[in-house]
Order: sequence, then structure tokens, then C-alpha cells
Amino acid sequence: MASSNEDIQISNKLDDAYQHMQSAQLYVSKAPNSMSVDLVNKADDFYNAMQAKATTAQNILAAVQPVYESDAMKTIRDGMNTLVEGLPGVLKALDEVANIHPFIKIAVGAFKVVVELDLKRRDNEKKITLLFVEMKDMMEVLIQLRLIKDEEEPGPDGTTIKARMQELVKRTADDIKTCANACDAYSKKKLLVKVLKSSSWDDKFKGFLTLFTDRRKAFTFALEMHVGKGVDDANRKLDSVNTKLNLVLEFFATLVPPDQQQLGELINSRGGPDAVMKENDVLTALAKYKPSSEVGSAKRADAHADLRSNKDPEGSLKELKEELFESADVAMQKNLETFERKFDVQRKKIIEEMQGIVRHEGDRVIDSVLSGPHDKIRDTDIHELWKDMRWRGHAKARHFVLALRDYYSSEFVSTSGVSGPVPRVIAEDQWALKYLDVEYISALIEAFDEDASGFITISEVNQFTTSRPQGWSVVHWLAYWAQGWQMSCTYYIVKITNCFAEIFALEPHVRAENHTFVAEYLMNVWRPVTTLSASMSTFAVEDELWSRFESYVLAEEKRLDDALKDVHYYIDAVETLYLITGPGRIEQFIFPLLYLLVRRHLDVMRLCYRRVVINRGELWYAAGGIYYIMDMVMARVGYLESLFKQRNLDPDKQFKTFAYGLYNYIRDQDQFWSLKSLMNGSFTTADFRPDEVEKDLPEPGDVLSYPTPMEGLFSRPEEILTESDLEVSGPLKVILGRWYGFFGEGDAWPGYPMVTFFFHASEDASVAKARSITAGGVSFAIVGQHALKDDGTVEYSFSQTFSGGYEPRHLKARLSDDGQSLFGLWGNKEDDLKDEFYLTRLPPELLTARPSPREFRENKIQALWRYAIDATREQIRRKSTSLSWIRIKEYLARRNKYLTLIAREEDQGLNPDEYKELAILDHGFTYDEACCCFVLLEMRNRAGDKVPNFGCNVCAQEIEGVRYTCLPCSLAQNTSVDFCDKPGCRDATLDIDGSTHLPSHHMIKVRTFLFYDRDTPKLFGNATRVIADLTEQAKKMGTRPKLPAADARNDQGQDGDTGLVDGASGALQAKDSVDAETPVTSPIDIKKDEPETRGRATAASANKVIGVRPTCVSCSAKMEPPFFVCVDCIESIYICTDCDEQLGGLSIGAHTPSHSLLRYSRSSETNRAAGPSEERLRALESKVASFSGQFTALNERMHRMEGLLESLLSRLVPEVSVG
Ligand SMILES: [Zn+2]
Ligand SMILES: [Zn+2]
Ligand SMILES: [Zn+2]
Ligand SMILES: [Zn+2]
Repeated sequence: MASSNEDIQISNKLDDAYQHMQSAQLYVSKAPNSMSVDLVNKADDFYNAMQAKATTAQNILAAVQPVYESDAMKTIRDGMNTLVEGLPGVLKALDEVANIHPFIKIAVGAFKVVVELDLKRRDNEKKITLLFVEMKDMMEVLIQLRLIKDEEEPGPDGTTIKARMQELVKRTADDIKTCANACDAYSKKKLLVKVLKSSSWDDKFKGFLTLFTDRRKAFTFALEMHVGKGVDDANRKLDSVNTKLNLVLEFFATLVPPDQQQLGELINSRGGPDAVMKENDVLTALAKYKPSSEVGSAKRADAHADLRSNKDPEGSLKELKEELFESADVAMQKNLETFERKFDVQRKKIIEEMQGIVRHEGDRVIDSVLSGPHDKIRDTDIHELWKDMRWRGHAKARHFVLALRDYYSSEFVSTSGVSGPVPRVIAEDQWALKYLDVEYISALIEAFDEDASGFITISEVNQFTTSRPQGWSVVHWLAYWAQGWQMSCTYYIVKITNCFAEIFALEPHVRAENHTFVAEYLMNVWRPVTTLSASMSTFAVEDELWSRFESYVLAEEKRLDDALKDVHYYIDAVETLYLITGPGRIEQFIFPLLYLLVRRHLDVMRLCYRRVVINRGELWYAAGGIYYIMDMVMARVGYLESLFKQRNLDPDKQFKTFAYGLYNYIRDQDQFWSLKSLMNGSFTTADFRPDEVEKDLPEPGDVLSYPTPMEGLFSRPEEILTESDLEVSGPLKVILGRWYGFFGEGDAWPGYPMVTFFFHASEDASVAKARSITAGGVSFAIVGQHALKDDGTVEYSFSQTFSGGYEPRHLKARLSDDGQSLFGLWGNKEDDLKDEFYLTRLPPELLTARPSPREFRENKIQALWRYAIDATREQIRRKSTSLSWIRIKEYLARRNKYLTLIAREEDQGLNPDEYKELAILDHGFTYDEACCCFVLLEMRNRAGDKVPNFGCNVCAQEIEGVRYTCLPCSLAQNTSVDFCDKPGCRDATLDIDGSTHLPSHHMIKVRTFLFYDRDTPKLFGNATRVIADLTEQAKKMGTRPKLPAADARNDQGQDGDTGLVDGASGALQAKDSVDAETPVTSPIDIKKDEPETRGRATAASANKVIGVRPTCVSCSAKMEPPFFVCVDCIESIYICTDCDEQLGGLSIGAHTPSHSLLRYSRSSETNRAAGPSEERLRALESKVASFSGQFTALNERMHRMEGLLESLLSRLVPEVSVG
């Protein structure tokens, strides 16, 4: 006890010392040299006393240590550890009190919702837990209302408790929600952001801790007053609360998780947060930092980042910087909408749950007198079975299901008196008995055995029977799990497959600005989803049986869809998924959930076709949603795997049958996606039907989660003066509101495009603040202060900070006499301001007409004169209602010049003359117009973006444009072996893993964007058949060509010339065995017909001219190998190398340059002997091909730009108002 007393003493002293230090510091900073000395001395004394006391302590920190272990600290720590256990009791008590005092329902409701939401978060962020502990402590005070019988009963002073507390309770509900939003926003931040922005968040959280404590005091005070205690009494009670707050805040500071600590140390070793944030390289490296024990939210937030940085490391750096620039407040603001949606979903859920558990016919009433564990079972039949089998708390899963089957098949004879078989199942459920057969036993076990433990507990039994749809018998429900579930999965797998087929058909046709994102989505999403859907054994939908389950399946789909709608199909975390699905195994809803999401994404893609240019984030986050589902899947697989091992079962074997093999492929994805396995099947495809794509097109606003870049331009939120702005007076008041302006730099006026921002007063009315974005898309904040000069004038000083590591600016400004302009000097260093700026309240159109400050200085009269003329001219120009063609042309010319210059400025910089030209152009564009230009530039860059896809095996670069893929080498390596079109690459001889690639191999020339996983099997299958045809043909001619593929067929063991063909026909056979009526085991894909085979094998044989040398479709020359054959056309299209090279791909009939061509070679010798002339031709070919590629892209772009410009102009011109 003595030591504990000592602890408290230390703690008290420390507290005092701390307080003195704080006030001392405050004074020191305010009045550096006067009365503070006293205070400092006092604090010093305390420290000396402390140090004397803590003789063993090496430093002050060590002395502080005991405080954390003191009783009070222990209470806090315990409170955190037991939070989850304590909550249900508190919630229940609060509910009861809310029934007596309905006015607290609003706060209790909000508290319940945020608690539920937080429980779904699986990470263990201690700071957030501490916030919830404080929230709970605050709410607990309200339980004391229990002692007050009636909310309308007046206290001694005549006020009712309701009147006393109602406002406070309402505010509390809001505060709880705000705090939960902060926690939600924080938990989504990347680890690096959490560390670098920790002070901003800590301030926020400490604010909440203080707020909740204050509120607790206010509640306590109100209660004490109501029961007639004196003010002094009440205040005394509050003192302890105050002491605790100090401890809590101190404790809070110690709650830094190890991963954040590690990263924090790393940052300090690199010079601290400020230094780190300036260095792009360091930031990028730190963003990749993974702590040694990586758990929880950091991992999941980074999964998202990984998805993005896949392609766009620059982009993610830019985003990271944007995030680092954000204060906690801004991050909370951004998260609010998402959070509110989740909040509402959870609130609905709680209300639904309050309406009670579903009661089924035949359910027993559970009374409190139990004669055995079986009495806890709700269902009458299972209750009887359980009792008779004398099971205790659980039964072996297999035994249970077999016994259940016997019971329902009436083979079961009761031992409890009633003898003889009794029919247990009513006539209309007789059909279902068939599904209680041994054949379905694993499915039935899985249905009951929620945790896959091999045992079925009483609560699992109750969970199973009560979860059945209203009106269904348990037997019906069992039949659903035996067969109906598999059938419903098949139903959704087909739907998902068809959605993807449509998206893949649409992909080549979407607007160029969207293509990268659509392609990336498919590359990221299709493969994991297909791994799941292909893995499961499907069962074709039988109409009669289906009709028994359909209502339930569709009701479940609707339930999920409604929940998805509530969150706007935006899945920001795994917790949100739990919110949508509700409790239960993930297998239950994985496919409907995936279907609903992919169907929604298909709607987005349809908009991408022509209607809109989507935001960069749109499909990234769409893909992110699917990734979160895959996170859940992987967690489930991991759980099952360890469980199987615990039960001494072989996971490999178990996964083959568990949930009809659902997780079988995902455990060995590489095997499933190997080329060999892919070649054994094919994927469902669809035709591109533009009219279908555009039919009943949804409104962009209904489907898109992010503003489109165009919307961003035109729907900037209108800012107006707030109430607190209006209360401000003095020099600050006159600068509030909207400003437009230019910044000069060196000789250039302006040095930058026009800027605009809107000054609001800060909360304490001490400064003016604004946040805005430059025309080029960089966020900035600007803070303005004022000071009275000796001459009585007011001087304003502004500081402007940018996201993305740009140097901050300092501005010194004067307000013009009429209050309409602010002007002065700016610079990056506070003591070195030398460039001019000019801000005005006048419309931006007039600003474009205003001569530079220098012109005003040099000849004011002349400048004013010019200003007047130009402004008038500008007014007339912009007011004219009809768009004169000359004006449009002039405008477009200016804009095009501007686009060229800003693009080049970004790329390589400009020369002095170009800078002058740029300044003139900058000056001529309003802020909106300049924004337009930058958006257009972005669109242009996006249209030219390439998605990294295939790399060259020789030069290791990403292949752009023409790609050669070697058929035999790819098959031998079990992965794509590709070459770019550079002569040194596509003609190379190369050793790959022990075998040699020769330029004479059969290569396929691909000019379009193809997806490796999806398109390769078809491409190679077609090419293999073409080779077979040609070989056949050559045989008939008697000039049997030597197939150079021998080295690649080592494991086929077939006759050299037909080995590949057999592989292909094997694939066809595999497809034939997909029969709609019989259960299918592991097809690659579900398909009822095979459009892509297009009768290749038959039509091609019918078309070819047997025994005649192939002739070129273009120049009609008779050809010798090597020549090209189309692998996509049904007809045999032969093209000589010259024609294909010269024209960059032929268009003849159905054949287009986007078709892939097989380069059919006869033997290695011919190619090896390629002469210099051929070499030159090849070089020419690549030039022509690349030129023609550029030309097509350019043409397309021009076309799109035209449309874009027209629509932009038509929107822009009516907008202009001159006031
Ligand atoms: Zn190359
Ligand atoms: Zn090869
Ligand atoms: Zn030709
Ligand atoms: Zn073709």
C-alpha cells in the first residue's frame, strides 16, 4: 500500500509540475522577459523536488513512468480492455432509461449506432478505443436518470429535467456522430499519413476527449441540481472528473502503436516530418514502408494504395501529398458523406432488429425451466431428436445430419414412448426429402456448422432454423442448402460471367480518356472473381426446383441491393461489407454480392462508352470494393485452412469439396491461371452492341461516385459569407469574400494562370482563411492577418501554402481606397518579397483586360485608357449572344496554343520567348477558362496513356503498339513470351530457361490491346488451328513444311505436326462436355454456346483452296513462307509481309488491322538468312506501323476534342456575366 501511496504522491506532484510548466511556457512565449521568471522558478523547484525524490530515475521520463502504473491509470487501462464486454450492459440500461425519458433517445440511438459500427472495425487502434471509453463514461451518467420518475417532473427550482438537459442531449448526439466520423476517417489513413499528420489528429481526438469530459460534467451538474444539491456540492463532485481528464490526456499521448512508433523513428532519422515532406524520393520510400509486425488497418488501407500504385506511382505520390496537406478537419469533411451513409444503414438495422426475431410455426417457446440442454432448442422436431439422442451441448456434425435425415425419413423410432414410424413431413414438403440424402451430406453439414468446427452446437441449430424464410419448413430450408444454394450460385455465376463478357466487349470502344481505367479495372478485378466463379462446381438451374427457391434468392438479392444502394455501392472498408451482408458465412452471399457490384460497374462502363469522361478515382474505388470482398475471402480461406489442420484433415482434400469447391482454385491461383490450364477451356464472350450499351443509359449522377472532371469545372460549390463572417468587424471584415487575381514573377505578368479564393473569418475572428485550387489543380490554403502601421494605415500579410511540396508564399498587401483591390509584393521568403500581385473583387473577365502593374506605374493615364477600351471590348465580346465563328476560332486558336505551351512547360520547360507568349495567354484567360485548358490537357494525356501489359523479353521494356508473341515458346514456358517490334527484338534468338527461341518460330503479331489471361487461350487456340490447316494443306501439296515447334512440345508426346492440334481439339471436347442438364465439375467458365469458335475448324477447311499456294489478299502475289494469316477471321486471309508492313495492317472485308496475324514460317533456315534488304524493309515497317498508329490515335483524338470543345463552349458562353 505504501508504494501505491507514493505513486499517488508522485502523480500529484507531477501533475502540479506539469501545470506550472504549462502556464510558465505560456507566459514565456507571451512576455519573454518580465514576470514569468517567477513562474519558471516555481516550476523548477518542483522539478528539483521530483528529481530528488526519484533518485533512481535517469531522466524525467523515467520518473513519469510510475504515473502510468498508478491506480488511476490502471482504471483507464482496464476501462479500455473491458470496453467491449461492458458495452452491452450499458446499452441495455440506457435503453431502459430512454423508455422513461424519451428525450435522451436521440443520443442513446446515436451512441448505439456508432458502437455497432465500431465493433465491426477489427483493427485495434487504441486511441479510438480510448475515445469510446470516454464516450461510454459520458453516456453512463445518463443512466442515473433512472432515479427520476418522470421527465416532466419539476425539480426544486421548478425546471423539469427534460428542459434542463434536452438541448445538451441533442448536441451530444451530434458530437457522438462527429467523433465517430473522425475515427472512421482516421482509420482509413495510410500509416505514413497517420504518423506525419499525427499532431493534427491528436489535437482533434484530444478535443473530443475534453468535450466528452465536459459534457459528462454538464450532465452530472444538471442531475445534481435537479435533485436539489447545492452548487458547491455539485462542483466538488466534478473535481474528480477534472483530475481524471488530465490523466486521460497524458495516457492518450502514450498510445502510439508500435508500427507508428517505428515509422516515426524512421522519419526522425531522415530529418523529421517537415524535411521528409519536401523530398519526393524519401516520401515514396516511406510510403512503401511496412512495419515488421504489420496488422490491421494500415494493411488494408495500403491494399488500396497498392491497387492504384500498380500503374501510377506518380499519381499515388500526388495523392499522398494531397492527403498530407489535408488537416484532420478536411479529411473528416471528405469522409462525412460516406460515413453518414454507413450510419444510416446501421441505424435501420438496429430498428429492424428491435422489431424482434422472426418466429416460425412449430417453434417452441423457450421457458426458463430447463430439464436439459435440448430445451434450449427452438424447433420442435430437432428438439425431440436432440432429446432422444441424449446429446448435450453439441453433437458431431456428421452424426447430427445423418440422424436428422433418419428422423425426417420416418425411419427414426422414438425411444421416448411413442412407438412406430410417424410421418414427420407434411405432403407438400415431400419433394424435399430427396435432398436429405447422403449425397448432400457435406452441404448440409456446412449449412449447420457455421464455424466449420465439425460440431454442431445448440446455438448453431437455433441460428439455422430461425434464419429460414418465413413460411418455409425446416425440411424446405434443408433442401435449399443441399441443392438450392448451389443452384443459386450457378445462377449468379452465369450473370457475373455475362456482365464481364459485356464489359470486355465494350472495353475497346470506350472513350480514349476512359480506356486506361476500364482496362485497369478488368486487369485487377476479372481474374480474382473468375478464380472464384470457375472454382465452384456449378449446377444448372432446373425450372421446377428453382421455382421452390427463387422467391428467397431474389429476396436476399434485394436485401443486399438495398443495403448497397444505401452506401451508394461504395465499399470503403471491410467493415462496410459486414454492414451490408449482415451476419453469416461469406459463402452465403458472395456471388449475389459480386454480381450486384459488377452489374453496377457495367453501368459505369456503359457511361464510359461515349457519355462521360469519368473521374480517375471512379473505377479504382469500384475495383477496391471487389478487393475488399477478396480480403474477406482470403481471411475465410485462412481460417478454414487452420481449422482443417487442427482437426487433422488434409486441407487440399477438404477444399476440393468444401462449399462445392468454391475456394479450391484460389489457393493455387498460379496453377489455375497457367497457360496450360487456360488452353483447356475458354471464356464466355459477347458481341459489342452499341445500341444495347446506350439503351436505358443511367444518369451519370445516379451511378458515379465521383464528380467527372467536367463537373468539377462547372459545379464548384458556391461560397457565401457565413454568419460568423458577418459578425466580424474592422480591417478583417473588408477583405472577406471572393477575390480574383494574378501573380507576377520576374519580368512576366502574370507568371501564373488566374487564381481565385474566398476569404472567411476564422472561428476566433483573428484571421481570414481560404482554401482553393489553382487552375492547374493544386490545392492551396491562404491565411490573412492585418497589422496597424505607424502611419495609421493597415497592412495585410498573407501566407499561402500548397499541396504537393510547392514552396509556400508570403504576401504583403494593401487594400485600395475603394476596397475593390488588394495589391503588393510576394516572395517565397518572408524577408525577400519582390514580385507583384494584384487581387480584385471585379469579375474575372475585367481582370483579363487590366494592364499589368508595371504599365500602370510607367504611364498611368495610358494604362487606364487601355483598360477602359479593352474592358469595354471584352464586355461586348462576351455579351454578344450569338457565337460568332470568328470569335470561336480566335478563342480556339488561343486555347490550342495555350495547351501546347502548358504541356511543354510540364514536359521540358520553355524558352524565354515562349514564356512571354505564355504570359500573354495566361493573362487572357479567366480562371474558369484556364481550368478548362488544364482539364483538356489532362484528357489529352489520359487519351494517350498506355496500360502496362506485356514486356519485351529482349529489351525488357513495356511493349507499346505492335507485339509479337511466340506460340511454341509461350506454350513451353507456360506463360506469354513476347517481343516488341524493334528489329533487334523481334528477330532475336534467345535462350529462355534452357530452351531456345528462334526468329523462325510461329509468332503471332498483335496490334490491339489484349488481356493476357482472357485472350491468350483463344488467340493461341485459333493460331494452333490455323497452323494445323496450313500443315494439312502443305502435305497435300507434297511440300511438307518443317514445323519449327518441335522443341516446345516435349510433354505432348504426339506426332510432331499434330501435337498442337490435339491440344486444341481437347479444348473443344472439354467445352462439349458442358451439358446444361448435368452437374459440371470445374469448367473454366460457364457457357451455353461458344460464339468464339465461330466454326473456325470447319469454315476454314471449307474455304481454303486445297493444293494451291496461298495468295496475298491485297497484292494477289503467290507467297512462300513466311507470310501472315489472320487468326480472327473465319475466312482464310493471307497477307504477304510486304503488304502488311507497308499499310500498317490491312482492312479488307471483315478483316481489320486490329485482327491478330500468325507469322507462318516454313523453316528456321529461311529466316536466318534474312538479307539486308529484308532488314531495311522491316525497319520501314516499324516506322510505318508506328506512324499509322499515331495517326489513328490523333484522328480519334481530334474528333473527340472537337465534340468536347463544342459542348464546353456552349456551356461556357451563357455563364459569363459581366457585373
Ligand atoms: Zn524489345
Ligand atoms: Zn519461340
Ligand atoms: Zn501482298
Ligand atoms: Zn482478320
